[in-house]
Amino acid sequence: LVEEAFQQISLQAHLGALISTVEGAPEQAQLVAKRLRAGVSLPLAGVPVVVKDNLNVKGTRTTCGSRALENYHSPYTATAVQRLIEAGAVVVGKANMDEFAMGSSSENSAFGVVRNPWDHTRVPGGSSGGSAVAVAAGMVPVALGSDTGGSVRQPAAFNGVYGFKPTYGRVSRYGLVAYASSLDQIGPFARSAEDLALLMDVISGPDARDATSLETLPAFRAALTREVRGMKFGLVREALEGGNTPGVRAAVEQICTLLESLGASVAEVGLPTLHYGVAAYYLIATPEASSNLARYDGMVYSHRAAGQTDVNSSMSSSRGAAFGPEVKRRILMGTYALSSGYYDAFYAKAMKVRRLVADDFARAFGHFDALITPTSPFPAFRLGEKTHDPLSMYAADIDTVMVNLAGVPALSIPAGYETLEGRELPVGVQFIAPALGDERLVTIAKAIE
Ligand code: GLN
Repeated sequence: LVEEAFQQISLQAHLGALISTVEGAPEQAQLVAKRLRAGVSLPLAGVPVVVKDNLNVKGTRTTCGSRALENYHSPYTATAVQRLIEAGAVVVGKANMDEFAMGSSSENSAFGVVRNPWDHTRVPGGSSGGSAVAVAAGMVPVALGSDTGGSVRQPAAFNGVYGFKPTYGRVSRYGLVAYASSLDQIGPFARSAEDLALLMDVISGPDARDATSLETLPAFRAALTREVRGMKFGLVREALEGGNTPGVRAAVEQICTLLESLGASVAEVGLPTLHYGVAAYYLIATPEASSNLARYDGMVYSHRAAGQTDVNSSMSSSRGAAFGPEVKRRILMGTYALSSGYYDAFYAKAMKVRRLVADDFARAFGHFDALITPTSPFPAFRLGEKTHDPLSMYAADIDTVMVNLAGVPALSIPAGYETLEGRELPVGVQFIAPALGDERLVTIAKAIE
């Protein structure tokens, strides 16, 4: 399996899905075989996996798609990845991504763009575009990404695979390079509900190394056999109010019909703060990012510019040379929103909206078991289409960011295709559950698979 993964990776190198491959993978596979022969039972024995390049894996480079960390070698392994390895999985590659997970198209990487396997002139979504493509193009059956505002779900939708953002705290963030710590969650990509469940049972659960990790034990495989009969689904009105392409609208309608035929009910529900989600998200994510990225000053680690004679010029020229334009924009935006005199108008206001978003969800979950929205208003857009207009790129996150603001779980499932300019492109539908309702999403995915 590991050899085959390497074959596919080299055959499809033109997609730009990986930043590096893991040299020691064949030896790792031999070790797995040895453990199997010794009678150890391993749920993921020999399964090749790819992980986003913001996840530390000892002995690999972890670049976060940035020149700043081009030569950073991880001295330790992230908990989620460690659990995969212990279950017998073999990490074969580190996936390309938007620099520091900032983006929705995987065009912000210092190591080249990622291409959508369905149409090479289109983006794979982002920021976990490389992980999504590795799964969609058949390099590996499963992969890990990170989702701060949609970075697992939206690329999953653009590539026709499953992408899951767990409840905040269900997967340890230890070893995940921080973008916006109060929003970040590691999540899996898979080609079936069953693979997704298998992976979640392995990676989630409490971890003493992440104070925000929850005590809840995973029970995903058990959720595969439950039914959706009797479940109440809320179709989010504001997410259907315009802006969606005909193919996206049709996919949502089809899913609703299917759920009803399985004995579930579907009714509209209002989530009025959806209109403020993107603004609040970017005013919370960028301040956190500006603070988290302060450590990349070229002193302890990250790129250090040559020939500087004092600390300030060393830091500013190192950061100036190492960060790409989107990261710089966000550091400036975040610093501005936090600065004295503007804090109350921007950051504090956004935090109030965050509370209202959570209230909106709480109200909706008083009546419904799960909510339905498109994952994105449109299928994959063209490479370069939005790079000169950051605001339109941000606006594309409308359906996903609320979920992170509220900390609830959401799953994007493949829900059909839309033909654009003669090409069939995948469309995703998003299911959102209340906090700790993660397993329910697997039940739904399996029922409509
Ligand atoms: N597109 C969003 C952003 O750029 C989400 C990214 C993410 O989830 N990492 O911030």
